[in-house]
Amino acid sequence: MKGKTISLPCLDALSPTLESTALKLMEEAGELAQAIGKYRGMSGETGFPEEKQVVQLIVEELVDVAQTAVTMMYVLEKKYDVDIEETLQRHLEKMLQKGYMTEGQNRPDRLIEDM
Ligand SMILES: [Mg+2]
Repeated sequence: MKGKTISLPCLDALSPTLESTALKLMEEAGELAQAIGKYRGMSGETGFPEEKQVVQLIVEELVDVAQTAVTMMYVLEKKYDVDIEETLQRHLEKMLQKGYMTEGQNRPDRLIEDM
């Protein structure tokens, strides 16, 4: 299976809730959309930053989205006893069934790992 592994920290200096994290996820998704819009001048911006700068901004906002999604996973595990690993396995099955991926072989035993 071809994949990408990322490792993002548990932000243990914060006390996120499901609600605060959901709002933050939408905020970060909005910032990502804003960065992409800036890239295309969708709000009539003039004096565009260089493409490379905008792409870097897009990547940074995408990582913010990923961090917030992972933070929500920590909240769901800690406060709601959710099994993220089981859910990830079912997600893979769903992607296979929908034909979104072709390589169902060589799947790692575990899809999530706590450090
Ligand atoms: Mg952001």
